[in-house]
Amino acid sequence: MGTTLPRPSRDDDWWKRALCTSDEECAELFYSEASGSAARAKRICFSCPVRGACLEHAQEIGEFSGIWGGLTGHERRARSRHGRP
Ligand code: SF4
Repeated sequence: MGTTLPRPSRDDDWWKRALCTSDEECAELFYSEASGSAARAKRICFSCPVRGACLEHAQEIGEFSGIWGGLTGHERRARSRHGRP
């Protein structure tokens, strides 16, 4: 069963250059609770050319599920609490 959490429209310019281009991969890896999944997703993010835009987008829409911009939801929430975009 796939995850249907929001991701940007494929029409967004930055998303076209995302390394996690497969919806299935996003659901299975970037939203997985399985051991090691977050670390694997983060490794992809840290090589991604649009990491900054991705992180900014997640912060803007208040998305605290899954890995976005190389950070977990918990890490993004902590950034928000400290007033960082
Ligand atoms: S930073 Fe990570 S989650 Fe964001 S687009 Fe790139 S690979 Fe995907």
